[in-house]
Amino acid sequence: MAIICYASRWFEFPACIDFVQIPRSTRGRPPLSNPKGKAKDGLWGLWPSDGVVFDRTCTLCPRLAAFLAKGREAHPDYWCAPVAPFGDRRARLVIVGLAPGFHGANATGRPFTGDFAGVLLYRTLYRYGFASRPESVSRDDGLELIDCRITNSVKCVPPGNKPLPVEIRTCNRYLAAELERHAPPGTVLLAMGSVGHQAALRALGLKPSQFAFSHGAEHRLPTGQTLLDSYHCSRYNTQTGRLTEAMFERVFARARELLGPAPRGPARATPQATAGAASADVRSAGVSSRRASARAKSGRAKS
Ligand code: SF4
Repeated sequence: MAIICYASRWFEFPACIDFVQIPRSTRGRPPLSNPKGKAKDGLWGLWPSDGVVFDRTCTLCPRLAAFLAKGREAHPDYWCAPVAPFGDRRARLVIVGLAPGFHGANATGRPFTGDFAGVLLYRTLYRYGFASRPESVSRDDGLELIDCRITNSVKCVPPGNKPLPVEIRTCNRYLAAELERHAPPGTVLLAMGSVGHQAALRALGLKPSQFAFSHGAEHRLPTGQTLLDSYHCSRYNTQTGRLTEAMFERVFARARELLGPAPRGPARATPQATAGAASADVRSAGVSSRRASARAKSGRAKS
């Protein structure tokens, strides 16, 4: 037993980081297509598996671990493991999503990459100077986030995009460790949906019931961070018109306003968003949290 424990820790040791970053399902496959795109830390901007902020071997949620095991069988070319946060560890903007999508982050190993949800997100990040490119294609595409990091409330893909409350609570230990170490006072947290909103608050030791979720809401937290809320940029939300591009951009415009001008890169908002942000009390763009929770309960949206 001691040998097994030692070996499992050894695989997470930084000296073996190149081994750790390649998912089991891709071992033996050809090398990633663009080695030059590899980030300086060798992790393409992903978090190393340190077992505290992120643990690539975690199986604390039996239902999710079993789902991943089935996924590996059906899709041996998929990542099919907990998905690490992506981006700058000293970022002042931290986006808290829900969980990997099966054919998105669960396939590629990078949050919001590979399915519809990331299209609007990365385009918007680029417009506001938080990303070096408007698209995220794969872990090795060379994309860099600028003063921004994306993390998830639940690191493993849940069946039907719906993690159980116990799974959200179990995985909160990683988000709590991440925020404690890397989201000091002054950080802007941007919650994508009510699950991300509640998970971020819990991770900071705050009571979610004291901060109502609504799209466009802005909460000054007693811990010193600012929490902005947005509906999740899922295909369902955008196709039904619940979340428009202009609504989404107004939230990022507010984040940019709070953090100051982009150090580099473009900030090209659409005219609708610019007009909205100029008059801009983002809070006034809020939509009833009752409507949000009623829709969430109906199970039609994954925010
Ligand atoms: S969801 Fe989080 S806590 Fe649960 S198994 Fe995955 S990494 Fe571990």
